[in-house]
Amino acid sequence: MRALAVEDDPRIATDLDVALSAAGFHVETVGDGEEAWFLGDTEDYDLVVLDLGLPTLDGLAVLKRWRAAGRQMPVLILTARGTWSERVEGIDAGADDYLPKPFRMEELVARARAIVRRAAGHGAAVMSIGALTVDLNRMTVAVDGIPVDTTPLEYRLIAYLVLHRDRVVPPGELLDHLYGENHDREANALEAVVTRLRRKLGTGVIATRRGFGYHIDRAPA
Ligand code: CA
Repeated sequence: MRALAVEDDPRIATDLDVALSAAGFHVETVGDGEEAWFLGDTEDYDLVVLDLGLPTLDGLAVLKRWRAAGRQMPVLILTARGTWSERVEGIDAGADDYLPKPFRMEELVARARAIVRRAAGHGAAVMSIGALTVDLNRMTVAVDGIPVDTTPLEYRLIAYLVLHRDRVVPPGELLDHLYGENHDREANALEAVVTRLRRKLGTGVIATRRGFGYHIDRAPA
């Protein structure tokens, strides 16, 4: 899963990067409103954390432009303490949630996970499809109730497929969400990860639809 963190305070930006990476996201950080707007307009993210006070273009204007252009990714805004009007304006502009500064990183991560699940149409943190169970809070994976050890990269791949369970995910999209936009990985890098995962999960869990992409098999094992 891929997250964009928009924050001009370098200390908070670093904290966001560390916390969201630990929560299973591939994180890109940017500190400038115009640049953030461009990235959100041209790249696909599973989550955006958006500070409202930004240089060149304020966060509210960035959000309004994204929504006006039909960009639907979940957005959590960071507002200044005590400015209730900012929160109201942010939600009116299409924010999915907000956090007043200063905030605890643990709360930010919990809220971020919740809006990502809601955006995927699933409220619950523990999701089961066929033989596979993924706990999106604990970042654990099990097959037929037996825990499976995964690397962070493998976990991101499974979590992305589970959150997009209703469709076949093309390889290019999966690569972007695993490695970010500036990757130069080829489809065979992805196949290598899938092959490793199939060894761990059993062959039937991640299904390939040849020429289209990957999906989680719904059939119970
Ligand atoms: Ca700021």
